[in-house]
Amino acid sequence: MRFDVIIIGGGAAGLFCAIQAGKRERKTLVIEHNSEVGRKILISGGGRCNFTNKEVSANNFISQNPHFCKSALARYTPQDFIELVKSYKIQFYEKKLGQLFCKESSRQIVEMLLSECQKAKVEFRLSCEVKEVEKDENFIIQTNQGVFESESLVIATGGLSFPKIGATDFGYKIARQFGLRIVETRPSLVPLIFTNQNFSKLAGVSIDSIVKTRKREFRENILFTHRGLSGPAILQISNYWHKEKSISIDLLPENDALEVLEKNANSKQNLDNFLGKYLPNRFAESFAQNNKPINQISKKEREKIAESLNNWQVLFNETEGYHKAEVTLGGIDTNELSSQTMESKRVKGLYFIGEVVDVTGWLGGYNFQWAWSSGFACGESV
Ligand SMILES: Cc1cc2nc3c(=O)[nH]c(=O)nc-3n(C[C@H](O)[C@H](O)[C@H](O)COP(=O)(O)OP(=O)(O)OC[C@H]3O[C@@H](n4cnc5c(N)ncnc54)[C@H](O)[C@@H]3O)c2cc1C
Repeated sequence: MRFDVIIIGGGAAGLFCAIQAGKRERKTLVIEHNSEVGRKILISGGGRCNFTNKEVSANNFISQNPHFCKSALARYTPQDFIELVKSYKIQFYEKKLGQLFCKESSRQIVEMLLSECQKAKVEFRLSCEVKEVEKDENFIIQTNQGVFESESLVIATGGLSFPKIGATDFGYKIARQFGLRIVETRPSLVPLIFTNQNFSKLAGVSIDSIVKTRKREFRENILFTHRGLSGPAILQISNYWHKEKSISIDLLPENDALEVLEKNANSKQNLDNFLGKYLPNRFAESFAQNNKPINQISKKEREKIAESLNNWQVLFNETEGYHKAEVTLGGIDTNELSSQTMESKRVKGLYFIGEVVDVTGWLGGYNFQWAWSSGFACGESV
């Protein structure tokens, strides 16, 4: 069972790479341990797959080498993927901030990829467990379905997030086996858990906010959960969060809270009712713990209130973990790979693509674009 190219992992990056390799008439096999390919694509974007973003640049990615992703992103762009989606007459729309979603279902994207694979004569082994990988002249892959051999081996097994749909540490194990460095991994695009605050009674409250670290800021909604915060703004900032550093949250991005309070310093209105004009009532009530009319609040207290509304400093202890994270931050050190082809600099013929590599995108279609672009770059080279 000899192939030119074996790809382990039939997710977004693996399938895309297989299509390009197959089109070049490379005899290509995809090995997937699930009974179907593309499970993560199916559940992505709430079942509608945010398959790319209209505006993608290296700025939307986190990596120890921020330049690494540039070449692949330039060679296979969002527009290229949009053209492919259009050619299959898949209806899509922009939800917000350039994020493109299927109108009907993510399944259309998987079907499109499978149809392209079929055209490119890609072969599949599903429910196939890899037991061992060795390299002689070629790669020898021992599985529960027999032994396969190939000239090129592509690792496209993704990150650690969502283990319940088949995520494994296989890619990192192979990297270690062949002596490649790995940038420490952790869950990301993930809800965060408060260090020592409890706002569980606010669970479900959502507020348009600006969320900041020293490096980055995002303006979108935050969402109170039973243990901490979630919502798009928090998922975005989780890519930049560090345990010991607080995150600043501006709960009133349209207003200078102190200015608003000063203008109303003589008002007899209770603080909770007053804040209810700007913020959800449940939040306003809980925030105004020692509720009283504004004209009975001292200047010093007003300053403190304003500071906690425009610059709430929040410490988080940990994330909700891989079972709730959309991606894995870190991965195969990009210094180990060619940015043109994704091939290992140490081991000829060994490639890593997609999320297993230390390139992590923002929320909003960027992670799939990285999967398509890195898969394409590799598929052109294997
Ligand atoms: C709930 C959720 C929603 C998301 N929504 C979006 C979105 O809308 N837009 C976006 O851009 N990104 C989204 N992402 C992130 C995106 O899905 C991933 O970044 C992307 O799928 C990574 O592609 P990949 O091919 O590298 O890995 P995956 O798509 O994870 O594919 C890896 C494949 O390898 C297989 N595999 C793993 N281990 C083995 C093994 N040992 N042997 C054989 N096969 C193996 C897996 O079963 C899987 O099929 C979402 C992620 C999650 C968890």
